[in-house]
Amino acid sequence: MAPEHDGLPAAEREVDVSGPVAELLKSVAPRVLTRLKLALRVFNLLPFPWRFNRLDLGAREDFLRRMESSRFGLFHELLVMAKLFSTLGYTVLPEVEERIGVETSCRLADGSLPQPAGSLGDTTPPAGGEECDVVIVGSGAGGAAAATTLAEAGLDVIVLEAGGGYNRDTYPSDPLDAIATLYRDAGLTIAEGRPPIPVPVARTVGGTTVINSGTCFRAPDPVLEEWQRRYGIEWATDLAPDFAESEEFLRVTPLDPERMGRNGQLAMEGASALGVSSGPISRNAGSCVQCSSCPYGCKIDAKRGMNVSYLPRAVAAGARIRAGVEAREILVEDGRAAGVRCFVAGAEGNGHPAPYTVRARRATIVAGGALGTPELLLRSRLGGDQVGRNLHIHPACWVGARYEEDVRGWEGVMQSYYVDEWEPERVLLEATFTPLPFGGAWLQGTGREHQEAMLEFGRIGSIGVQLQDLSTGRVGIGRDGSLKASYGLTREDTKAITFGIARAAEVHFAAGATEVYPNIARAGVLKPNQLAEFEATEFKPSELRLEAFHPLGTARMAADPREGVCGPDGSVNGVENLYVADASLFPGAVGVNPMMTIIGFAKRVAAAVAEAEA
Ligand SMILES: Cc1cc2nc3c(=O)[nH]c(=O)nc-3n(C[C@H](O)[C@H](O)[C@H](O)COP(=O)(O)OP(=O)(O)OC[C@H]3O[C@@H](n4cnc5c(N)ncnc54)[C@H](O)[C@@H]3O)c2cc1C
Ligand code: SF4
Repeated sequence: MAPEHDGLPAAEREVDVSGPVAELLKSVAPRVLTRLKLALRVFNLLPFPWRFNRLDLGAREDFLRRMESSRFGLFHELLVMAKLFSTLGYTVLPEVEERIGVETSCRLADGSLPQPAGSLGDTTPPAGGEECDVVIVGSGAGGAAAATTLAEAGLDVIVLEAGGGYNRDTYPSDPLDAIATLYRDAGLTIAEGRPPIPVPVARTVGGTTVINSGTCFRAPDPVLEEWQRRYGIEWATDLAPDFAESEEFLRVTPLDPERMGRNGQLAMEGASALGVSSGPISRNAGSCVQCSSCPYGCKIDAKRGMNVSYLPRAVAAGARIRAGVEAREILVEDGRAAGVRCFVAGAEGNGHPAPYTVRARRATIVAGGALGTPELLLRSRLGGDQVGRNLHIHPACWVGARYEEDVRGWEGVMQSYYVDEWEPERVLLEATFTPLPFGGAWLQGTGREHQEAMLEFGRIGSIGVQLQDLSTGRVGIGRDGSLKASYGLTREDTKAITFGIARAAEVHFAAGATEVYPNIARAGVLKPNQLAEFEATEFKPSELRLEAFHPLGTARMAADPREGVCGPDGSVNGVENLYVADASLFPGAVGVNPMMTIIGFAKRVAAAVAEAEA
């Protein structure tokens, strides 16, 4: 996939790419691994009657080019998969980074190091189990905020987290190692469908906030008004004080345009030339200026992920955090949730998981994220037939562009500038510079052409198109017992994403880009005079190449129990003392990056739990 080219080493012949990728795949679930193996086998057989791995270099390149221009969706899916893995394994090699000129080093504007975070205490679970007032499953945005509210209300809280705990002293320095360590299934949680859409989530103390981009938005008022009116969530329009409190605590500040990096500045210049509504993104990372590491954990902990903000605050108020603990079943006694039955990974020193049970006197709160929460509710057979349904993901598309000047996006903040002009069309644009191991796979071409594009990575600007989706999916448990997610992108949403890609292209061109990569194989490369033709073309859902970072809605809140899983106080229908406090609660897609809204919802649920009679 990556031949020797202009100083770039030949994959496999000169540098080992498949070894580290195989190592990474050791941390994915058997279900995902089986599907990947099958896909790779099919990929290898496609040049029938030959085998891809037995073709010579020239024949391989020809075949990859034919795959790229093919009209068959399956060819594109397999090609994208092969490009993703080969780029991931290849671009993390120091010699490749050096040749392309990518350097990553996080720092604050004044060169200082942020104050160290408070302690998380002893996160080792005691043998057998323990007791508390409230047990919370999951330590991400929702779980951490709920833990803080409850601990500060004087309740005895335990937070259980399946992943391990890390901070700036301990995040793995190798990107592949970081992905394997910090993400669930090495980031390969995929919503199956046409197209299949990767929906990565974290599995670490602090949840997905540890590897996210630090972008902080309040939920738009029209969305909250709709949730209040349509789903009976009376307090949804009163969240302003909750947002303000969290923003202050997380030190949320808008980026300084001077310091956000050239990728954001180009989006700003393009938006200003078009006269559209836009602005610098507000983030929870103070004055950090350099990046490309957000998805691997912030090397200086400038980003106030939950592991260095709400969780230490909860611990200071008396909460206990237990890492490496996977909750398997909610205990129910006389119709009331009474705690959680769990396993501690490899706790017995022999690699076998050890049983561990937490009994909760007052409440059990599930905050495992919109994939983990329905998984636990389904395993426990609780919550009714709406559990796992109504999955929204904010499907997103990378739209790159070539500039005649150096962009060197890795020298700026990863997610830096938004354009919200097209919110009525459900589209939000965000200048997002995806690090090379992920963004490299979206570059044009295969073989030598792709290598050429990688050498030009420093001149690529990128904008993410994010859709407030009406399409839905479902989270379930597969026959083999593992997590299964599916998603059906509708034609209406496909059109809306295509509209968003065209708007991103417009912003790029207005900022001086010479060509735009709409990331749809049939559309090829766009020049400024081809935009109208692009917009007039109807694409099938399967032609889009998408990712998604915001799973939501799989245990939704609704006043009418027939419409959701939880009531407006977060309590799960049909069981006393059981609550949800995370992204699963949203009745629909919020349309902006959801972390702050999740925190707001979790604080409301926690306040309701604290007020509920003992
Ligand atoms: C790459 C990326 C970038 C993003 N950037 C942004 C951004 O800039 N701004 C923004 O607003 N949002 C962003 N998001 C999304 C945001 O981080 C999430 O929406 C948010 O963290 C979700 O909060 P949560 O509490 O629902 O779940 P999570 O934060 O995912 O936390 C859930 C936790 O529960 C644990 N868990 C699950 N099941 C169990 C179990 N059975 N037992 C024990 N533990 C369990 C998981 O391991 C996990 O740590 C991004 C997401 C990704 C993937
Ligand atoms: S928040 Fe992201 S961009 Fe800023 S220093 Fe940390 S990893 Fe780098």
